[in-house]
Amino acid sequence: MAAKVKLKNCPCCGGNAREYIDGGSLVVECHKCSLSIRRHLVPPSEWMLAAERCRECWNRRPKIKEGANSNPPTPQGQNG
Ligand SMILES: [Zn+2]
Repeated sequence: MAAKVKLKNCPCCGGNAREYIDGGSLVVECHKCSLSIRRHLVPPSEWMLAAERCRECWNRRPKIKEGANSNPPTPQGQNG
């Protein structure tokens, strides 16, 4: 039995995620912050694979840029 990919909590806020079908797309959405990803719905024979791919994508934590707004400490001592 192959191990199924489980939906992890939201990578943003840690909230519970849910899966649903919306207008021909497979959607994973967070209850708390409404973060969502969307996958085009595939033929029923490939649903399982698509669902796993969708979950893998969801579980992958987004890379957050760090230090983009950090300035090096510049002590300004003016001794006059
Ligand atoms: Zn969230």
